[in-house]
Amino acid sequence: MSGTGRAMDLRIGWLYGGKMNIYGDRGNVLALMRRAAWRRIAAETVDIGLGDPIPDGIDAFFFGGGQDREQIAVARDLVGAKGAAIRTAVEGGAAMLAVCGGYQLLGHEYRPHGAAPLPGIGLFDLVTEAGPERFIGNIVVETEFGDLVGFENHSGLTHLGSGARPLGRVRVGRGNNGRDGFEGAIYRNAVGCYLHGALLPKNPVLADWLLQAALRRRHGDVELAPLDDALERTAHAEAGKRALRAR
Ligand code: GLN
Repeated sequence: MSGTGRAMDLRIGWLYGGKMNIYGDRGNVLALMRRAAWRRIAAETVDIGLGDPIPDGIDAFFFGGGQDREQIAVARDLVGAKGAAIRTAVEGGAAMLAVCGGYQLLGHEYRPHGAAPLPGIGLFDLVTEAGPERFIGNIVVETEFGDLVGFENHSGLTHLGSGARPLGRVRVGRGNNGRDGFEGAIYRNAVGCYLHGALLPKNPVLADWLLQAALRRRHGDVELAPLDDALERTAHAEAGKRALRAR
């Protein structure tokens, strides 16, 4: 039920969960499902793998991280109609969370080490190229959702184009490219970032923003019943302290 008491449903499309699922990223799907279930919202997760079409009626997508070799197969699968269907869904109000390898493939191109450039679907105005070092460590990003905390592990250096809005400013860690001070990108109800961990269990404000956007697409403006996020806030605070200590 939402705060209005109406029973609601929700469809989450998990993109390439069998291939793009590292550093706990599946926890993001679990967090969205649980935060919906705690509000008695009937949420279902639809696995969308290699060769699968993008089903109609997806309210929120999740696209996790993966190593370069998985990204090569996934990039090939996204070329053409499949990538276009995801763009159309997001333009139509669907929510999206993409992390690291998934985030990179939502830009125009990802240039990995020792392989031909991979085409992205062009949802975000950005380009990523593999850099000489891996950025590994805790990360804290100042955003419109408050501080987001997570863990980054990527060699990709992401550069935002004029049409891209950064998710936020790096407080601790390296972010998109370790130079411009920005991390991630946001466009309509789509968020891309480098925060593994999983991100959403420790960042309930962002989790509920994605849920709200997904529900709005299917049910119009509804308010989410508040949850007791004491445990989530404690995890968030501990992760933030750990990141600041490790600086
Ligand atoms: N292969 C990409 C990189 O190293 C993405 C890695 C990831 O998803 N953690 O930047």
